[in-house]
Amino acid sequence: MRRTGGLPLSRDILNRRVRELKPSGIRRFFELIIGRDDVISLGVGEPDFAVPWRIREEMIYSLEKGITSYTSNFGLLELREAIADYYKKFGVETSYENVLVTTGVSEGIDIALRAVVNSGETVLVPEPTYVSYQPLAFLSGADVISIPTCPDFKLTFEDLVKYRDRNVKVLMLNYPNNPTGVSYRKKELEEIADAAVELDCIVISDEIYGELSYNFRHVSIASLNGMEDRTVILNGFSKGFAMTGMRVGYAIAPEPILDGMLKIHQYSMLCAPVTAQIGALEALRNGEDELERMRAEYMRRRNFFVKRLREMFDVVMPDGAFYAFPDVSSTGLSGEEFAERLLMEKNVAVVPGSAFGECGSGHVRCAYAVSMEKLREAVDRMSDFVNSL
Ligand code: PLP
Repeated sequence: MRRTGGLPLSRDILNRRVRELKPSGIRRFFELIIGRDDVISLGVGEPDFAVPWRIREEMIYSLEKGITSYTSNFGLLELREAIADYYKKFGVETSYENVLVTTGVSEGIDIALRAVVNSGETVLVPEPTYVSYQPLAFLSGADVISIPTCPDFKLTFEDLVKYRDRNVKVLMLNYPNNPTGVSYRKKELEEIADAAVELDCIVISDEIYGELSYNFRHVSIASLNGMEDRTVILNGFSKGFAMTGMRVGYAIAPEPILDGMLKIHQYSMLCAPVTAQIGALEALRNGEDELERMRAEYMRRRNFFVKRLREMFDVVMPDGAFYAFPDVSSTGLSGEEFAERLLMEKNVAVVPGSAFGECGSGHVRCAYAVSMEKLREAVDRMSDFVNSL
């Protein structure tokens, strides 16, 4: 037991909202597999590729030159310019002045929410959802409303305009989606944009898997009519460029929102790590071939994996990212029971869908960010498991 300096400390010392936060449903599962080398993990949402070599080299070279200082709070100017230019690829015309370099998209989510939400305003979170949106929205003081999107995991105009009278400040949007892989075509985004205008809310558009789109080109909702002034784009280098541990991402936002985010960023983070920013710049300047190579490999794995999963379960075809989200309810097991027994009996780790919101229950999330060989073995073991039930 840690000493408390004589004070009778209890959890009451914590901020009320922090006290009420539930621990992540994913963590419990990761703890179960720590130290077990025999497990094939489809649990972690992390590329199995190392940072592409030329990006590593650029970072190493910068260290050799002794570039180790703070950067501007905004981030390196060349990187902000490169990001503004890069986003043309997703239909957005912007300027470096609207770009803030962050310590991963994780920081971007936090500071975007804190910059705009007042206590008592509503944040809409479509489910199944990436695990950090609800806790971070809650910590920002918001009332959080979850919107179930089962069974096809697509958000519609009607889903949203129901909340007309709920003082909605923000809609969280993530496409391609973690955990379902589902994304939106331009026409579908237009519906969501119309609803955002009707609700008069801001859209925080987490496009971290935008590069990893397979069925159609990724389009940012910010590129649609009337959306530029109400969208905060979040993106980064963790997934497309396999740079998770480098901790670098960015926000593109209208000036007043970016200014608000910068205020929080400069006090809480100061700046993103300089070495990572240098690597990110190299990724944007010369990383396209490596990105394409990894994207093609994920697509190959997706095609194989989903085909095999569909022999056992209903699976919505993922448009992007590296997740499949099969409905395992036909086995008679809940998502938790399925994941727990698959791990114990076959040494394959997947995450129960309920970790991503109630509407995910009955599903499991499988990340196909492992080698083809491991994926083949994992799906064979899954098939043995289902046959044994
Ligand atoms: N947003 C989504 C949808 C994610 O899936 C993840 C990581 O899994 C993140 C954000 C976090 O990204 P970063 O590593 O840039 O903080």
